[in-house]
Amino acid sequence: MAQQETDEQINDGFVVDTEDCEARELAHRERGTSRPITVVGNPVLHRECKDVTEFGDELAQLIDDMFASQRTAEGVGLAANQIGVDLKVFVYDCLDDEGVRHVGHVINPVLQDLPADRRHLDDSNEGCLSVPTAYASLARPDYAEVHGKDMHGNDIKVRGTGYFARCLQHETDHLYGFLYIDKLSKRDRKDALRQMSEGTPRYPVVPND
Ligand code: ZN
Repeated sequence: MAQQETDEQINDGFVVDTEDCEARELAHRERGTSRPITVVGNPVLHRECKDVTEFGDELAQLIDDMFASQRTAEGVGLAANQIGVDLKVFVYDCLDDEGVRHVGHVINPVLQDLPADRRHLDDSNEGCLSVPTAYASLARPDYAEVHGKDMHGNDIKVRGTGYFARCLQHETDHLYGFLYIDKLSKRDRKDALRQMSEGTPRYPVVPND
């Protein structure tokens, strides 16, 4: 249809993740079951997850469970290995630098390299549900693009600014086995782990052995 073509040209293949956010997020989490969050030290967080190859009901249920878990833990993004599932999937419910809400999911995400003129670093604070109660300043580009698939196996692209750009980078890193604290200096990493040891998570976590 003509209208569809126009939309696609405007969006240039980028997914529209800013519409009906409230209803879409609610529908996911109402179908889902909240699961406890894995924390730093759990092996599933420290290795690359497997590519998704089956785009069926099980994947849809995983995404629903991830939205339910994300809401329980009051997160703005969640990777599958944060609920112990070794698959490249993340979900997000996050505001960009203009306060616009984005809700969606990405399967098998690949972070795109940015041309030098788009790399403006932002050193805001970052936290992670898998490093509960800790925060640290971490410089990251303030714009990010991720390419991957949706739950039906269609190719998608997602882009974000500000805190949402940080989220897209953080969640993709998770699926390759990296936590944000792995990008900190030794001293800042140690400080983040100290904050974690002194705090109490406000959501259920999977204890490490
Ligand atoms: Zn995280």
